[in-house]
Amino acid sequence: MVITEMNEEECGAFLTSASLGRLGCSLDNQPYVVPIYFAYEPAYIYVLSTFGQKTEWMRANPRVCLEVDEIKDQSQWVSVIANGRYEELPEPQYTAEREHARKRLGKRYRWWQNALGERQLRLGDELITPLFFRILIDSMTGLRATGESADSGNAEQK
Ligand SMILES: Cc1cc2nc3c(=O)[nH]c(=O)nc-3n(C[C@H](O)[C@H](O)[C@H](O)COP(=O)(O)OP(=O)(O)OC[C@H]3O[C@@H](n4cnc5c(N)ncnc54)[C@H](O)[C@@H]3O)c2cc1C
Repeated sequence: MVITEMNEEECGAFLTSASLGRLGCSLDNQPYVVPIYFAYEPAYIYVLSTFGQKTEWMRANPRVCLEVDEIKDQSQWVSVIANGRYEELPEPQYTAEREHARKRLGKRYRWWQNALGERQLRLGDELITPLFFRILIDSMTGLRATGESADSGNAEQK
């Protein structure tokens, strides 16, 4: 297996094709990681969310990261980490940006389902206020592993 570093362009191309990642934030030395759907474009990652622990924490500490991977098997995978800053997109200041986020996220079928569905589980029929935010990307790194697939050759050598 060979592991190579991906350049920024390759990281961007991978994030463009992906939609599910793990958002990492932290507060008072406690990390918190949750799966989220996102839409990438150069410089930004857009997310639909609801109010809760992660938004409270990101408001308090906007330094966040997003890890996205595609794992075919243990010797064929891609992993990209984007580091950046949380930027909430409230109305009315960010109406245009919210519409843009909606369009980017809307390319995925039922794109709102996981964000709002999880909240509905907790709040029942209460009105759920959606929240859009974006991550302003400061840096990206990526690693790609290529090699024999797990089912070829001697498993002990992998
Ligand atoms: C495939 C997938 C896609 C998702 N996409 C989105 C998305 O696009 N946008 C979005 O906002 N949410 C999405 N979610 C839900 C998301 O992972 C969080 O559960 C949700 O956003 C609530 O986060 P919160 O910090 O507001 O939770 P709160 O309701 O404030 O959390 C309270 C406590 O519940 C626990 N908890 C919360 N979420 C999880 C979790 N996922 N797993 C285990 N324990 C948890 C934690 O211990 C936390 O301290 C997705 C989940 C999955 C599985």
